[in-house]
Amino acid sequence: MLKKVLIANRGEIALRVLRACKEMGIQSVAVHSKVDRDLMHVRLADESVCIGGNSPVESYLNIPSIISAAEVTNSEAIHPGYGFLAENADFAEQAEKSGFTFVGPTADVIRLMGNKVSAIQAMRSAGVPTVPGSDGPLTNNLDRTRSIAQKIGYPVMIKAASGGGGRGMRVIHNEKELIQGIDLTQQEAKAAFGDGTVYLEKFLSHPRHVEVQVIADGQGNAIHLGDRDCSLQRRHQKVIEEAPAPNIDAEARTKVHSACVKACLDINYRGAGTFEFLYQDGEFYFIEMNTRVQVEHPVTEMVTGFDIVKEQLMIAAGQRLSRAQDEIRLKGHAIECRINAEDPVSFMPSPGVVNQFHAPGGMGVRVDSHLYSGYTVPPFYDSLIAKVVCLGDSRTSALNRVRNALDEIVIDGINSNIPLHQRLARDKNFSNAEFNIHYLEKLLGQN
Ligand code: ADP
Repeated sequence: MLKKVLIANRGEIALRVLRACKEMGIQSVAVHSKVDRDLMHVRLADESVCIGGNSPVESYLNIPSIISAAEVTNSEAIHPGYGFLAENADFAEQAEKSGFTFVGPTADVIRLMGNKVSAIQAMRSAGVPTVPGSDGPLTNNLDRTRSIAQKIGYPVMIKAASGGGGRGMRVIHNEKELIQGIDLTQQEAKAAFGDGTVYLEKFLSHPRHVEVQVIADGQGNAIHLGDRDCSLQRRHQKVIEEAPAPNIDAEARTKVHSACVKACLDINYRGAGTFEFLYQDGEFYFIEMNTRVQVEHPVTEMVTGFDIVKEQLMIAAGQRLSRAQDEIRLKGHAIECRINAEDPVSFMPSPGVVNQFHAPGGMGVRVDSHLYSGYTVPPFYDSLIAKVVCLGDSRTSALNRVRNALDEIVIDGINSNIPLHQRLARDKNFSNAEFNIHYLEKLLGQN
């Protein structure tokens, strides 16, 4: 097993990784920015190193500083969490070149999946269903582009190959808008991601976001851990996630699960990963793969009893997958609410001192949070401060527990989106699982 792991992240996910290390008897190293010295996991880690100033560029995105911290602490492996450097192929490469194990796939696989065009191509050849589209980058041949769009049928979407975080996308409604729309998306993509490559795909009008969790050991074994629905989104940011995804066609589900496992074997995937799909009218369409642990991994852990982070660490230590596919059994239903430090109406970030924090409890309730009474939420990072995850025998009982948990939780001193979650937990359409990716924004627009 690994002896010492450096956790290259902050907040709730750093604490999540630290807990796994402690359970497994692995020594832990926390790295942090100046303002983050009072983070819960920094206090609990065996060692900690301040890696720089408060802006992410100075600290959590500062590759030389993180690698030096791994060197001075004699760490063996680096867990990147999610966000920051988790999907940065150069970081994975430099970590490995400097002699550390990167907890994740190889740099080559991160690169392949980081480019949406190459990811789609790899998935198509593995038999994963994709959105009808240009099957590659758009070229200067405008007649070809027009005829592709016409064949697919409007509306279409222009997407940046290197896009991410919901940016670098544009919906085109008719041929008149096409060429100018491509130009604009190319320019924006070049400015934001340093790569103007764009491609085209069918715009789906009412899909749900359904994703498949996989884990593979890079030694010829891969399994899936079922799916999640993450359709409740605001500005392409997930707000509520659940496992399994409700009301999915059984045959399409079995097929997509097996296709994801096959794709992992085809690309020799190593570690935890997620295949993201749009699901509309009984069909799945691949949109991208995340080559890391995701924020919403706890809902899958709750229904499978499978510890994804511990398994990541075991795989990084060179072990084989601990369970075979037929040993994975789903039991019950889990729902996660992402609690953000933000104004519940304007959604403006709300950093500051948390005078009092009280976590809800009871059977089937899990709270992943780095908050404690007296902690100050800094203004420099993502506003996620807690994940309230509830498991029930059925979707209805999970939702009942979510309502109770949201009524019990106390975060005093700063604003949070708890009122929004309380409203959603009592929303009739959400209770009936009748929603798609546009539902939440439409609901908020009705205010
Ligand atoms: P990012 O990498 O920026 O997160 P994705 O490709 O995952 O981009 O897409 C983000 C979101 O954009 C999806 O969850 C969905 O809401 C919307 N989207 C992406 N592609 C399409 C499409 N072809 N049709 C309709 N909506 C789409």
